[in-house]
Amino acid sequence: MKFPFRFSVAAVISAAVVTIAVWMAAGVPAYSQTRPLKVVATVSMLADAVRQIGGSRVEVASLLGEGVDPHTYRPTRSDIARLSGADIVIANGLHLEAQLGEALKSLGKTKPVWYAAEHIPQDRLISDPNYPGRFDPHVWMDPKLWTTVVESVRDALIVRDPAGRATYQAGAKAYIAQLAAIDDYTRRILAPVPAGSRVLVTAHDAFNYFGRAYGFEVEGVQGLSTESEAGLKRVEELVRLVVDRKVRAVFFESSVPDRNIRALVEGAAARGHKLAIGGELYSDALGTPGTYEGTLIGMLDHNGTTIARALGGDAPVRGMAGKLKHGG
Ligand SMILES: [Zn+2]
Repeated sequence: MKFPFRFSVAAVISAAVVTIAVWMAAGVPAYSQTRPLKVVATVSMLADAVRQIGGSRVEVASLLGEGVDPHTYRPTRSDIARLSGADIVIANGLHLEAQLGEALKSLGKTKPVWYAAEHIPQDRLISDPNYPGRFDPHVWMDPKLWTTVVESVRDALIVRDPAGRATYQAGAKAYIAQLAAIDDYTRRILAPVPAGSRVLVTAHDAFNYFGRAYGFEVEGVQGLSTESEAGLKRVEELVRLVVDRKVRAVFFESSVPDRNIRALVEGAAARGHKLAIGGELYSDALGTPGTYEGTLIGMLDHNGTTIARALGGDAPVRGMAGKLKHGG
């Protein structure tokens, strides 16, 4: 993955300026507001960001819906048609949308495609231990880090629709305040988790940024991507870890099958350690559209609350604002 720009506020703007030149050279028609700006985001976390930033000025859709795993998703013909109908496409990048990569690349020749997470300063990203030069794409798990992505999406929308600048700036500012609030809440509810219990075991490595932000060691049965299956050796390694460390609970993920986590629970039971299922976490997709859990704030509230309640933190069952369907 190449990062052609130095990252600072000024650099994001210069990235945007370069982008305009590229879009114009590609013959992208200028956008004038006679209807909402059509935005297609690859994953629901980004669609939510666009909705929060753009309000009624944008019409946004997420290509991947509830419970869909972006690492393994292959685009259909109707997906390509949806992408082609957008005024701008917002992707995460950092190799999250692995199988969509080719389609996005060829689309990018004629249409603005904005890889939002690739505008995060490189020194704030976590490296992928298995692929030198690649980074962990699960940046939405740390709301402070996601603020950088929100700023990058805001800048891309302003470049595409300059007349909407004031709307996008105000929307982004309000949303960034909400991200700060969920970060504060998460920090507070996890503070009482004892040092020895700060181990988060999930189906795949989606929680490294969460772990870094809130002081948890993170272990996924599968790696950063779900593209390769977990081996028996990895499951055995984790059974040893949960038994040795007396881990109380492990977690399912909404976009990954349960079987590996069940194998862990059975493996621990065979060694006389009762391992609870702490609940299901949203990892790579938001919950049901139109619900609180269908927003990133709701997703992070659900995850933080569920983890806190399972591992000895102190969180209200219905979360930060009493809006969760069910707590952990
Ligand atoms: Zn993932």
